[in-house]
Amino acid sequence: RRGWIEVVCGSMFSGKTEELIRRLNRATIARQRVEIFKPAIDTRYHEHDVVSHNANSIRSTPVALAQEILLMTSGCDVVGIDEAQFFDESLVEVCVQLANRGTRVIVAGLDMDYAGKPFGPVPALMAVAEYVTKVHAVCMCCGELASYSFRIAASQDKILLGETDSYEARCRPCFLEGMKEK
Ligand code: ADP
Ligand code: MG
Repeated sequence: RRGWIEVVCGSMFSGKTEELIRRLNRATIARQRVEIFKPAIDTRYHEHDVVSHNANSIRSTPVALAQEILLMTSGCDVVGIDEAQFFDESLVEVCVQLANRGTRVIVAGLDMDYAGKPFGPVPALMAVAEYVTKVHAVCMCCGELASYSFRIAASQDKILLGETDSYEARCRPCFLEGMKEK
Protein backbone atom coordinates (compact mmCIF):
# COMPACT_ATOMS: atom_id res chain seq x y z
CA ARG A 1 0.00 0.00 0.00
CA ARG A 2 1.25 3.45 -0.95
CA GLY A 3 1.21 6.22 1.64
CA TRP A 4 1.72 9.94 1.24
CA ILE A 5 1.30 13.32 2.96
CA GLU A 6 -1.07 16.11 1.91
CA VAL A 7 -0.92 19.54 3.58
CA VAL A 8 -3.80 22.04 3.49
CA CYS A 9 -2.58 25.40 4.79
CA GLY A 10 -3.55 29.06 4.79
CA SER A 11 -4.75 31.81 7.12
CA MET A 12 -7.68 31.66 9.51
CA PHE A 13 -11.07 31.43 7.73
CA SER A 14 -9.40 30.21 4.52
CA GLY A 15 -11.37 26.95 4.48
CA LYS A 16 -8.68 24.54 5.70
CA THR A 17 -11.06 22.61 7.93
CA GLU A 18 -13.76 22.62 5.23
CA GLU A 19 -11.27 21.17 2.73
CA LEU A 20 -10.03 18.58 5.25
CA ILE A 21 -13.61 17.49 5.99
CA ARG A 22 -14.37 17.32 2.25
CA ARG A 23 -11.39 15.03 1.57
CA LEU A 24 -12.12 12.81 4.58
CA ASN A 25 -15.81 12.48 3.68
CA ARG A 26 -14.86 11.38 0.18
CA ALA A 27 -12.46 8.78 1.60
CA THR A 28 -15.27 7.50 3.84
CA ILE A 29 -17.58 7.23 0.81
CA ALA A 30 -14.84 5.15 -0.85
CA ARG A 31 -15.09 2.80 2.19
CA GLN A 32 -11.65 3.72 3.49
CA ARG A 33 -10.94 3.53 7.21
CA VAL A 34 -10.60 7.14 8.35
CA GLU A 35 -9.49 8.62 11.70
CA ILE A 36 -9.26 12.32 12.58
CA PHE A 37 -7.19 13.95 15.30
CA LYS A 38 -6.78 17.43 16.69
CA PRO A 39 -4.58 18.88 19.45
CA ALA A 40 -6.22 18.67 22.86
CA ILE A 41 -5.73 22.43 23.44
CA ASP A 42 -8.14 23.27 20.60
CA THR A 43 -11.54 22.82 22.19
CA ARG A 44 -12.99 26.14 20.97
CA TYR A 45 -16.12 24.72 19.43
CA HIS A 46 -16.35 21.14 20.58
CA GLU A 47 -14.54 18.63 22.82
CA HIS A 48 -14.40 15.96 20.14
CA ASP A 49 -15.48 17.24 16.77
CA VAL A 50 -13.48 19.12 14.17
CA VAL A 51 -15.76 22.04 13.26
CA SER A 52 -15.31 24.54 10.43
CA HIS A 53 -16.36 28.19 10.62
CA ASN A 54 -19.40 27.42 8.51
CA ALA A 55 -20.35 24.70 10.99
CA ASN A 56 -19.39 21.59 9.02
CA SER A 57 -18.16 18.99 11.45
CA ILE A 58 -16.62 15.54 11.70
CA ARG A 59 -15.95 13.27 14.68
CA SER A 60 -12.35 13.54 15.95
CA THR A 61 -10.09 12.43 18.77
CA PRO A 62 -8.26 15.14 20.75
CA VAL A 63 -4.65 14.16 21.56
CA ALA A 64 -2.10 15.84 23.83
CA LEU A 65 0.97 14.48 22.00
CA ALA A 66 1.52 13.73 18.31
CA GLN A 67 2.96 10.28 19.14
CA GLU A 68 -0.45 9.14 20.39
CA ILE A 69 -1.65 9.26 16.78
CA LEU A 70 0.74 6.44 15.80
CA LEU A 71 -0.69 4.16 18.48
CA MET A 72 -4.31 4.81 17.48
CA THR A 73 -4.10 4.32 13.73
CA SER A 74 -3.00 0.78 12.96
CA GLY A 75 -5.22 -0.47 10.16
CA CYS A 76 -6.24 3.05 9.09
CA ASP A 77 -6.24 3.95 5.40
CA VAL A 78 -6.53 7.70 5.90
CA VAL A 79 -5.50 9.86 8.86
CA GLY A 80 -6.69 13.48 9.10
CA ILE A 81 -5.08 16.00 11.46
CA ASP A 82 -6.50 19.50 12.01
CA GLU A 83 -4.89 22.56 13.67
CA ALA A 84 -1.44 21.04 13.09
CA GLN A 85 0.30 24.27 14.16
CA PHE A 86 -0.52 23.51 17.81
CA PHE A 87 1.49 20.26 17.84
CA ASP A 88 5.25 20.24 18.46
CA GLU A 89 7.87 19.36 15.82
CA SER A 90 7.50 15.63 16.51
CA LEU A 91 4.31 15.75 14.40
CA VAL A 92 6.54 15.80 11.31
CA GLU A 93 8.17 12.45 12.17
CA VAL A 94 4.77 10.99 13.10
CA CYS A 95 3.31 11.95 9.69
CA VAL A 96 6.38 10.57 7.88
CA GLN A 97 6.08 7.27 9.77
CA LEU A 98 2.36 7.03 8.96
CA ALA A 99 3.01 7.66 5.27
CA ASN A 100 5.91 5.16 5.23
CA ARG A 101 3.54 2.64 6.78
CA GLY A 102 1.20 3.09 3.79
CA THR A 103 -1.26 5.61 5.24
CA ARG A 104 -2.64 8.64 3.39
CA VAL A 105 -2.08 11.55 5.78
CA ILE A 106 -4.02 14.81 5.35
CA VAL A 107 -2.80 17.62 7.61
CA ALA A 108 -4.49 21.01 7.92
CA GLY A 109 -3.02 23.96 9.77
CA LEU A 110 -2.01 27.61 9.84
CA ASP A 111 1.17 28.23 7.87
CA MET A 112 1.75 31.61 9.61
CA ASP A 113 1.06 32.98 13.06
CA TYR A 114 -0.48 36.41 13.76
CA ALA A 115 2.92 38.05 13.21
CA GLY A 116 3.23 36.54 9.74
CA LYS A 117 5.92 34.07 10.89
CA PRO A 118 6.00 30.33 9.99
CA PHE A 119 3.93 28.47 12.57
CA GLY A 120 5.08 25.34 14.49
CA PRO A 121 5.59 22.11 12.53
CA VAL A 122 3.54 23.24 9.48
CA PRO A 123 6.47 24.65 7.42
CA ALA A 124 8.46 21.41 7.89
CA LEU A 125 5.37 19.37 7.00
CA MET A 126 5.02 21.36 3.77
CA ALA A 127 8.61 20.39 2.95
CA VAL A 128 8.10 16.64 3.37
CA ALA A 129 4.59 16.48 1.86
CA GLU A 130 3.84 15.13 -1.62
CA TYR A 131 0.99 17.64 -2.03
CA VAL A 132 0.61 21.14 -0.61
CA THR A 133 -2.58 23.15 -1.08
CA LYS A 134 -2.63 26.75 0.06
CA VAL A 135 -6.18 28.03 0.45
CA HIS A 136 -7.13 31.69 0.82
CA ALA A 137 -9.64 33.66 2.82
CA VAL A 138 -11.25 36.96 1.83
CA CYS A 139 -9.56 40.10 3.17
CA MET A 140 -11.90 41.75 5.68
CA CYS A 141 -10.60 45.21 4.69
CA CYS A 142 -10.62 45.15 0.88
CA GLY A 143 -12.08 41.86 -0.40
CA GLU A 144 -8.88 40.61 -2.06
CA LEU A 145 -7.51 37.12 -1.37
CA ALA A 146 -6.11 36.95 2.18
CA SER A 147 -3.09 34.95 3.38
CA TYR A 148 -2.62 36.54 6.81
CA SER A 149 -4.41 36.16 10.15
CA PHE A 150 -4.50 39.66 11.63
CA ARG A 151 -5.01 39.76 15.39
CA ILE A 152 -7.50 42.40 16.49
CA ALA A 153 -7.13 41.52 20.18
CA ALA A 154 -4.22 43.10 22.08
CA SER A 155 -2.65 39.86 23.42
CA GLN A 156 0.94 39.10 22.32
CA ASP A 157 0.83 35.38 23.17
CA LYS A 158 1.77 33.15 20.24
CA ILE A 159 -1.35 31.12 20.92
CA LEU A 160 -4.63 32.93 21.49
CA LEU A 161 -7.59 30.73 20.66
CA GLY A 162 -10.27 32.82 19.10
CA GLU A 163 -12.72 33.55 16.36
CA THR A 164 -13.87 36.64 14.51
CA ASP A 165 -13.67 38.56 17.81
CA SER A 166 -9.87 38.13 17.96
CA TYR A 167 -8.73 37.69 14.35
CA GLU A 168 -9.54 38.76 10.82
CA ALA A 169 -8.25 37.53 7.47
CA ARG A 170 -6.19 40.14 5.60
CA CYS A 171 -4.23 40.45 2.36
CA ARG A 172 -0.57 41.53 2.47
CA PRO A 173 -1.08 45.33 2.14
CA CYS A 174 -3.93 45.44 4.69
CA PHE A 175 -1.98 43.19 7.07
CA LEU A 176 1.08 45.49 6.85
CA GLU A 177 -1.15 48.54 7.33
CA GLY A 178 -2.63 47.00 10.47
CA MET A 179 0.77 46.02 11.89
CA LYS A 180 2.01 49.62 11.41
CA GLU A 181 -0.90 50.97 13.45
CA LYS A 182 -0.19 48.63 16.38
P1 ADP B 1 -10.19 27.48 8.56
O1 ADP B 1 -10.19 26.07 9.03
O2 ADP B 1 -9.16 27.75 7.47
O3 ADP B 1 -10.09 28.50 9.67
P2 ADP B 1 -12.97 26.97 7.99
O4 ADP B 1 -13.00 25.83 7.04
O5 ADP B 1 -13.24 26.68 9.42
O6 ADP B 1 -11.58 27.76 7.82
O7 ADP B 1 -14.02 28.09 7.58
C1 ADP B 1 -14.19 28.56 6.26
C2 ADP B 1 -15.49 29.35 6.23
O8 ADP B 1 -15.34 30.52 7.03
C3 ADP B 1 -15.92 29.86 4.90
O9 ADP B 1 -16.60 28.91 4.13
C4 ADP B 1 -16.84 31.02 5.29
O10 ADP B 1 -18.14 30.54 5.52
C5 ADP B 1 -16.31 31.49 6.63
N1 ADP B 1 -15.61 32.78 6.63
C6 ADP B 1 -15.67 33.70 7.63
N2 ADP B 1 -14.86 34.76 7.39
C7 ADP B 1 -14.26 34.52 6.20
C8 ADP B 1 -13.31 35.24 5.38
N3 ADP B 1 -12.81 36.41 5.76
N4 ADP B 1 -12.91 34.68 4.22
C9 ADP B 1 -13.41 33.50 3.83
N5 ADP B 1 -14.31 32.78 4.54
C10 ADP B 1 -14.73 33.26 5.70
MG1 MG C 1 -9.83 25.21 10.84
